[in-house]
Amino acid sequence: MNFAADLERLLGTALITDPEIIVTYSKDQAPFAAWQPAAAVLLARSTEEISKALRFCSERNIPVVTRGAGSGLSGGANADSHSLVISLEKMNQILEIDLDNQLARVQAGVINLDLDTVVKEFGMAYLPDPASRDWSTLGGNVATNAGGLCCVKYGVTSHHVRALKVVLSSGEIIEVGKATKKFVTTLDLMHLFIGSEGTLGIITEMTLNLVHRLKPPATLIATFSNIAQAAAASTDLLKYRPSMLEIIDQTTLNAVEQWYPLGFEVAGSILLMQLDENFDFGDPALATCKSRGMIDGMFSTEASDTTDLMRARKLAYPALERLGATLLDDVALPVTKISEFVGKVEELALRHQLTIGIFGHSGDGNMHPTIVHDHGDMEGERRAKLAFSEIVRIAQSLGGSASGEHGIGTIKRDLVAGEVSESVITIQRGIKKLLDPSGILNPGKKIP
Ligand SMILES: Cc1cc2nc3c(=O)[nH]c(=O)nc-3n(C[C@H](O)[C@H](O)[C@H](O)COP(=O)(O)OP(=O)(O)OC[C@H]3O[C@@H](n4cnc5c(N)ncnc54)[C@H](O)[C@@H]3O)c2cc1C
Repeated sequence: MNFAADLERLLGTALITDPEIIVTYSKDQAPFAAWQPAAAVLLARSTEEISKALRFCSERNIPVVTRGAGSGLSGGANADSHSLVISLEKMNQILEIDLDNQLARVQAGVINLDLDTVVKEFGMAYLPDPASRDWSTLGGNVATNAGGLCCVKYGVTSHHVRALKVVLSSGEIIEVGKATKKFVTTLDLMHLFIGSEGTLGIITEMTLNLVHRLKPPATLIATFSNIAQAAAASTDLLKYRPSMLEIIDQTTLNAVEQWYPLGFEVAGSILLMQLDENFDFGDPALATCKSRGMIDGMFSTEASDTTDLMRARKLAYPALERLGATLLDDVALPVTKISEFVGKVEELALRHQLTIGIFGHSGDGNMHPTIVHDHGDMEGERRAKLAFSEIVRIAQSLGGSASGEHGIGTIKRDLVAGEVSESVITIQRGIKKLLDPSGILNPGKKIP
């Protein structure tokens, strides 16, 4: 039975029920996650409206899928035909900027970069920088605990959140965390919601850290004949407190060279590092790279050089996309295991006759192997999906994790058990049951 008319009456507002528009709100950017057009979409305008909608859905057992911008890569915002999608896109107000207390209070639908742009005027910054920051929402970033280039120094989204307003599936509105910088008064419920991917509650407001704006970074680039040398150098470079530290493998470099020749034909791997405090570390950092077999390298404090030096990293994923259909994986590794991981993924690529380019955040061990297969090649797609899961198992076998930043959603849900005990899964299910007894919030996602 369709519930839309009843919910419209209760809320006194129209839902989206036009099938063509519904489709655009029913899935995220994950290429192979299952989805169906939702039954209806609510463009929520207030916490109170979401509260009423959730109480209504709980009473009738209607599944609810929360949506930020739908930029997710795990199927987390994908709907099925029975569900109500609650989109936060209209809740996009910056409610307060408190410069003295270095915080901003925002609604969940504010776009990440919009907050940073507004606070820039006051010499402040909001640091978490997922590559999707120009269109993903802060609510989505908190719900996935998004990462980015600056995590190696400044941590993931959770390091920048002070408090949340959350609506539980019963409709109850709670506040967790505190606007103060420090807070140890209660059990830390706030961090339960961060990274919960819409399974525990709908985040409607957030209090976030601001920091004084950093100076433009200096950039180092170094080429190596193989990734083992580059990975070893990357680990050594951590002592210089880099604000970015990235690695690119030969397969990815070849793809970049084919498209946009940058002179990396002979390199087996490159490292890119940025410093945003002490530029005196430039020369010692180059010496460190040299001791690990660097072929060539340079360090520049000129802001105008940054774009040129960063080009290979910027082009890494689009260059692989030019070769065919891609599956972008995301695993977290101990930084000391990167080169072993890459070796095993290279063997896997040979075995499955696939191109797999690897690049990622070597400073924090978060790697993005990208599997390429020919467009329309169903057999290639099948092998690519197998490789996608095998890459996760390789990471887990090396002490790593299924996801470093993109989340679990549906596409990695069956892989989680490979790295946590049955007791931990039971506790997670218990928490889900406590906070969402009717099980309506993003059912079938994240928690195995
Ligand atoms: C080109 C590209 C680059 C990317 N780069 C990065 C990157 O560098 N780092 C990174 O971490 N990710 C990256 N991503 C993935 C994605 O952008 C992030 O996961 C982002 O945080 C999702 O935000 P969103 O607003 O689009 O959320 P959505 O995709 O709409 O939702 C993501 C999940 O959060 C839940 N959710 C959304 N809003 C709320 C809310 N208010 N309350 C409760 N649950 C909610 C949804 O149900 C879903 O499970 C990238 C994606 C693309 C397409």
